Amino acid sequence: MLIKQLRLSGFKSFVEPSTLRIEPGLTGVVGPNGCGKSNLLEAIRWVMGENSPKSMRSGGMEDVIFAGTASRPPRDFAEVVLSAEDDDGEELEVVRRIERGAGSAYRVNGRDVRAKDVALTFADAATGAHSPALVSQGKIAQVIAAKPTERRMMLEEAAGIAGLHVRRRDAESK
Ligand code: ATP
Ligand code: MG
Repeated sequence: MLIKQLRLSGFKSFVEPSTLRIEPGLTGVVGPNGCGKSNLLEAIRWVMGENSPKSMRSGGMEDVIFAGTASRPPRDFAEVVLSAEDDDGEELEVVRRIERGAGSAYRVNGRDVRAKDVALTFADAATGAHSPALVSQGKIAQVIAAKPTERRMMLEEAAGIAGLHVRRRDAESK
């Protein structure tokens, strides 16, 4: 799967709608401290279904919504749109939106879907919120220090079999 574009609106520091094109190959994000580099990576994880407050550096899920500054009022919603192309060349557009007091909702190619469907879509394409293709600050050191079982999980994500584990857990819980 190729991620082609990211559109953020009201997400963390990206208060105004911002569009970022992502070209094939390795993409690096550079800029001064606090300009929003980590927020961008978090936006990719978030639209792929990340819910862990630690990964999102937030206390609660609504903390991803622009909280306002001295000169700008807070927003009531945050939205991230990820445009991608799957391995068969099909266009994929995934939208996640969260509104204050209303939780978050997902759409894939214009259709309302469950969080689980989004997680499976990305897991089957060997990517997702925990994909080793998303290298955040401190990640390299983490790989070096990882225990064997943790390292196996990273390899499984990279090999694209994480989706099978999700389905097995799902089947076992029924
Ligand atoms: P560094 O180089 O230090 O790692 P960075 O470019 O990764 O910096 P980020 O951590 O992505 O920067 O961005 C931090 C900025 O995002 C801070 O100014 C913080 O106030 C702002 N921010 C985070 N969440 C929100 C929010 N919900 N509303 C408004 N601003 C936010
Ligand atoms: Mg950072």
